[in-house]
Amino acid sequence: MITTATPPSDLSFEQSKCGQCTALCCHYFALEIDAPEERADFENLRWYILHEDTELFIDGGAWFLQINRKCTWLAGNKCGRYEDRPAICAEYDNTECDLDGITAERHFRTIEELEAYREEWVVEREAKRSRRAAAARKSWSKRKKKAVRKASRAKEALSSAKGKARKKAVRKLETARKQTKKAVRKLAQLEA
Ligand code: SF4
Ligand code: SF4
Repeated sequence: MITTATPPSDLSFEQSKCGQCTALCCHYFALEIDAPEERADFENLRWYILHEDTELFIDGGAWFLQINRKCTWLAGNKCGRYEDRPAICAEYDNTECDLDGITAERHFRTIEELEAYREEWVVEREAKRSRRAAAARKSWSKRKKKAVRKASRAKEALSSAKGKARKKAVRKLETARKQTKKAVRKLAQLEA
C-alpha cells in the first residue's frame, strides 16, 4: 500500500509487493527513545511496555517504542488518502520491509522479556566496567613505575651534577615526583 518502489509497468497494484500485503507497516508506528545507561533507566521502559498495544525494540543499537495501532486512513489494505499521505509514508522504501520478516536485534513484547534483558544488561555492563577499570589500573600502575624510575635516575644525576646540569636534574626530579604523585592519586581513585 505504501511504496516508493515503482512496480514494473506490467504489474497491477494487486500483483505488486504491497498489493500482496495486509499493509503491515500501516498498523503501528515507532519512535526512537533514549537508550538506558543505568539500571534505573529501565523504569520508564517498564512503564511503557505495561500499556496495551505497546512494544519496545532495539535496532542498530538504538531503542524504539512501538505503538501497535493502525492508521485511521487505512481503508482495507490500501491507503485511503494515498495522494495526501505523510512524507514518511511516501518516502518509505518497500525493498526490505515488514513483509520480508525483517526483525530487530531485540524485541520486547512483555515486561518479563524486558526485565530478563535488563538483568543480562546489568551483568554485561558491570563486566565491561570492571574490564575497563582493570585496564586503567594496569596503565596507571605502569606509569607510576616509570615515574619512580625516572625520579630515581634524576636523583642519582643530581648527586653529582653541578651548574646548569644541576638545574636540569632538579627540574627532571620535580617532574618525575609530580608524575609519581599523579599516578598514585589515580590508582587510589581507581581502588576506591
Ligand atoms: S509492509 Fe511492506 S509490502 Fe506491506 S504494505 Fe508496507 S511496504 Fe508494502
Ligand atoms: S497515511 Fe496511508 S500510507 Fe501512511 S500509514 Fe496511513 S494508511 Fe498507511
